[in-house]
Amino acid sequence: MIVGCDIDGVIVDPGEFFHLIPDWKEYYRHTVAMKPIPEMITLVKALIQAGHRVTLITSRPSSDRDKTVEWLEMYFRNCPPFDLLMRPEGDARTGAEIKMSVLRELRPDMMIEDEPKTVKMMMAEGFTVLQVHGYRLSDEDSVPQG
Ligand SMILES: [Mg+2]
Repeated sequence: MIVGCDIDGVIVDPGEFFHLIPDWKEYYRHTVAMKPIPEMITLVKALIQAGHRVTLITSRPSSDRDKTVEWLEMYFRNCPPFDLLMRPEGDARTGAEIKMSVLRELRPDMMIEDEPKTVKMMMAEGFTVLQVHGYRLSDEDSVPQG
């Protein structure tokens, strides 16, 4: 199957640099130093090893690509390279909007995502979503919705 997978809050633990948000530029400056979410790294590796195609879908800007790839190489050593779909430079849409347009084209069998509002949008369009809890971006988001 084709699996779409978000990065921040799904395989990357934003915790240590969480306080920098919404200064995303400053947050992304620390990309290489960000900690992984070990359980999710294990899960994604298992999906890849089982022959599923994992495509990373992130609202990180494409200017962060090199650092993101460097991070992926640290934690997914010996895994085949990922398709990595990022926010095009200068694209001011919200992360949710960017992800939705990618999903409509890619039509993944499953999406792994953490942000509740984004999960809700994906589900509303009929996508199967595996939601990761515990790495919320705000207190509001920590309240389960629906
Ligand atoms: Mg996320």
